[in-house]
Amino acid sequence: MNTGNVQLEAVKGDITDQPDITAIVNAANAHLRTGGGVAGAIHRAAGPGLAEEARQFAPIQPGEAVITGAHQLPNRFVIHCLGPVYGVDKPEAKLLADCYRNAIRIAEENRVDSIAFPAISTGAFGFPIDEATDIVAEVMEEVCAQTKYLEKVRFVLFSDKDLEIYREKLNL
Ligand code: ADP
Repeated sequence: MNTGNVQLEAVKGDITDQPDITAIVNAANAHLRTGGGVAGAIHRAAGPGLAEEARQFAPIQPGEAVITGAHQLPNRFVIHCLGPVYGVDKPEAKLLADCYRNAIRIAEENRVDSIAFPAISTGAFGFPIDEATDIVAEVMEEVCAQTKYLEKVRFVLFSDKDLEIYREKLNL
């Protein structure tokens, strides 16, 4: 896969524990509040200032992304993406691709050199991991060759199985 100057990597871990990364991506809810899964972990680690800052942008639509500071997280920014609910928000493949495209566009606008993504929509929102990862691979190939500031994209997966799927589909 040709991703220009951007290095892709996949690790097993927790999205809130990526201290060497400039911007982490939140699998957010429309109201940009705490919740389960990734959003719960990010808001707990960031502290209440994150929800206070994010509130001005809510509600966001599926496929949309907004940026805030990272508060008590060890990063500089949080980019909040609302993934599609599988089988509900249509067309779900395009909306999921939009999340990744918009997150990287906003990262570039803020001269972010490194970004970490969780597997958006594949938890509570029910997107099958195989299908979601194919979309991630397509978008990375499409956008990374054109970025100017981005040097590293890290995918942080929560299970060995998800990590394996990413490694296979992204040739990592
Ligand atoms: P969504 O509502 O977009 O589906 P979830 O937060 O429910 O988002 O889950 C997205 C993916 O992130 C799932 O695969 C889930 O297992 C994983 N996940 C949950 N918590 C974390 C975490 N702290 N760090 C990284 N990945 C996580």
